[in-house]
Amino acid sequence: MNFTETAEQAALRKAVGELGARYGHEYMRRKVAAGEHTDELWLEAGKLGFLGLNLPERYGGGGAGMYELSLAQEELAAQGCGQLMMVVTPAICGTVIARFGTDEQKQRWLPGIADGTTIMAFAITEPDAGSNSHKITTTGRRDGSGWRLSGRKVFISGVDRAAAVLVVGRTEDAKTGRLKPVLFIVPTDAPGFDYQPIAMDLAMPDKQFMLYLDEVALAADALVGDEDAALAQLFAGLNPERIMASALSVGTGRYALDKAVKYANERAVWGAPIGSHQGLSHPLAQAKVEVELAKLMMQKAAALYDAGDDMGAGESANMAKYAAAEAAMHAVDQAVQTLGGNGFASEYGLGTLLATARVGRVAPVSREMILNFVAQFSLGLPKSY
Ligand SMILES: Cc1cc2nc3c(=O)[nH]c(=O)nc-3n(C[C@H](O)[C@H](O)[C@H](O)COP(=O)(O)OP(=O)(O)OC[C@H]3O[C@@H](n4cnc5c(N)ncnc54)[C@H](O)[C@@H]3O)c2cc1C
Repeated sequence: MNFTETAEQAALRKAVGELGARYGHEYMRRKVAAGEHTDELWLEAGKLGFLGLNLPERYGGGGAGMYELSLAQEELAAQGCGQLMMVVTPAICGTVIARFGTDEQKQRWLPGIADGTTIMAFAITEPDAGSNSHKITTTGRRDGSGWRLSGRKVFISGVDRAAAVLVVGRTEDAKTGRLKPVLFIVPTDAPGFDYQPIAMDLAMPDKQFMLYLDEVALAADALVGDEDAALAQLFAGLNPERIMASALSVGTGRYALDKAVKYANERAVWGAPIGSHQGLSHPLAQAKVEVELAKLMMQKAAALYDAGDDMGAGESANMAKYAAAEAAMHAVDQAVQTLGGNGFASEYGLGTLLATARVGRVAPVSREMILNFVAQFSLGLPKSY
């Protein structure tokens, strides 16, 4: 076991941090206010190779792994400009296509994902199924050599920026019972594909959408992977998702702590910096410990995943996601407290993070579902639901 990053990883961390510092939280705030996407940052990150770090070199990627991709997400978030769609496009969609796609599918999608010119959304959540993915009803019906896909999805991020959506459905002959998922790449301009924005109380440039799939005609090559490989393919994408969500939370926690520490060292209301009061310094120190512990578990999950241990990575990725969301939430809350009234002043960039950091407790998987997983699989307790 080695806790020292390689020279390449350290250089990558520095380079991504410099890119993030050039954009920063103020850029994100401007984009939210203007109702725009973070295209400039996204495309520059793609050009610099940061979006395809985990993808094979043969298809334009960096040939590294989830360790490097999560490192990039963490450093952007630590500058206040983490990218929600990095959780989705390179981590979930890129991974699934790279691992289970045909050579044609890889040629078609991966180079654009790696250089930032193609965004792919990911749709599993359904209005009636919610956390219970076994209940999803989006169904693919065979139609000649291709498919017809119908269903509804909810809270799907970034559909308006996306060229396609990786949709989790089931086949008609596996319509009920335990989920036997199939994964379809659905172009967003396909007839029968429609989407509507959902009004969300979140200051994030990437929005969430309701998807309507009405007998969408898909060619045979829209299906990624094996119809019978079931859950393994899906989880191959969901572990990277959880690692990347952890990275977003860890980076956000770091960002909030940096802001708080700077302020606490400068602001003096009783003659000494407020950071000299243990009522402020201890909770910040505690938040620092929590962020570092979450980061360690995230790095373990990424290292296991990159070593090919999907099962081990699954447990660690879930634990990391839980710990990182809690750590980020606590760090942001304590940072706001440290800044007093300025914690809510737009200039300081912390107030809106109260809601966005909180998302980590719900999405992409809720903390209760993670605790269910840990109770059942890690502890061996009976299934409770
Ligand atoms: C900002 C944002 C972005 C998102 N982006 C995407 C996306 O790009 N693609 C996508 O597919 N989805 C996306 N989602 C959806 C997200 O994954 C779901 O909201 C999440 O998985 C929870 O599902 P739900 O909202 O249906 O809640 P529900 O399943 O209705 O759960 C409601 C509450 O009940 C709890 N609960 C449910 N079952 C149990 C149980 N058995 N034991 C204990 N507690 C339980 C949950 O933990 C939760 O607290 C996004 C959501 C948000 C908020």
